[in-house]
Amino acid sequence: MKIYTPGHGAFMDTLIMYGITSSIPSTVKYKVFGSAGVFEIEFVNNQINIDWLAKSISNNIFTNSQSIEQLLVEQLRLMQADAQRKLRTFLEALSTPEAVSQELSKYLEPGHAREEGRGRKGQHVWLPLYPHIGKYLTKEYRYESKSYGVCPMCVVLAALGFYRAAIPIRLPPPERSSQVLLLTFEGFVNEKQLGELFSFIQNPAFVQDVINNITIRRGARTLPSSTFIYVILASFSSSLLKTLHQSAATWKVLSTTFDVIRGGVVQVRGYEEVVVDRFLSSLIKLIDMDSRKTPQVLPLSRLDRLTRWLIDKEEPAAVEALYRFLVTCRSSDLYVASRQLAKALQQGLGKDFCEELACLVRRA
Ligand SMILES: [Zn+2]
Repeated sequence: MKIYTPGHGAFMDTLIMYGITSSIPSTVKYKVFGSAGVFEIEFVNNQINIDWLAKSISNNIFTNSQSIEQLLVEQLRLMQADAQRKLRTFLEALSTPEAVSQELSKYLEPGHAREEGRGRKGQHVWLPLYPHIGKYLTKEYRYESKSYGVCPMCVVLAALGFYRAAIPIRLPPPERSSQVLLLTFEGFVNEKQLGELFSFIQNPAFVQDVINNITIRRGARTLPSSTFIYVILASFSSSLLKTLHQSAATWKVLSTTFDVIRGGVVQVRGYEEVVVDRFLSSLIKLIDMDSRKTPQVLPLSRLDRLTRWLIDKEEPAAVEALYRFLVTCRSSDLYVASRQLAKALQQGLGKDFCEELACLVRRA
């Protein structure tokens, strides 16, 4: 069996794909093919049918509906009271296998979004699930700001995907903003790779040390959003970084900054898409190089400690320069980064760490 995401654009389709895949038990084999923001989920086992999948999805919705509401409404404040009431109604309506099965059959063919969208009837889609509808982007992408109607299944799967796979960082008070990162891909990814991503993102250690960490939250305020994306990726485990790097896919991070303004109204302040393959490959090179050494330098922990120290010392330019080098691997960028770091640290980086960074420089 094959399931297709509707075609509501890369952001919402990625969320819907995660909503579906995070519902599938880890013992079931499947692969996901992403292309131009649309995803196909193909099951290897022929016995898997729509009723079986509907049961897994409704169970995932039933188990997590309160946490989904809590995250979107109470923690991030990305939804107001009337949207919250509707979301709750949809979550309740789609927490039985029968209800999901009927709605999910629309996903057996590609292009379900053609029945929905701009000017169509249905629930007006909410900003955190479809940031492109926001005013900022309306101007930027010349979209008309007509309401974009979607069905409850699309809303619920996207909300579920947001809860299971998005990385939301709340900026420190007094700001009422969040930067939400969402990993997406083009190419093939399998159940093991996605399973590792879900369990890492929901791991309490990652939530505590990264998502809720005050230094990281300060970084969301002071760093350029692309630099911040790299900082978060560098905080992933070596094992997850390797998994992402070894998959037959190109990885991208979609980053949206949401502002909550007066009266609880939500606006999109910024949106950015960053292809992160080159950065991932630099991190993998550092890990591999280090694994052959005794004693090990542990470059990723060094990088993490250094980054947090620089954020706390309010040296965003040094962080930016360091991560720019990790993307470009150009000797001129290493030179700039070393100068910035020496100035910020009032001392050198340490010979062993410097040597490892220097090994990344691409030979012209
Ligand atoms: Zn729909």
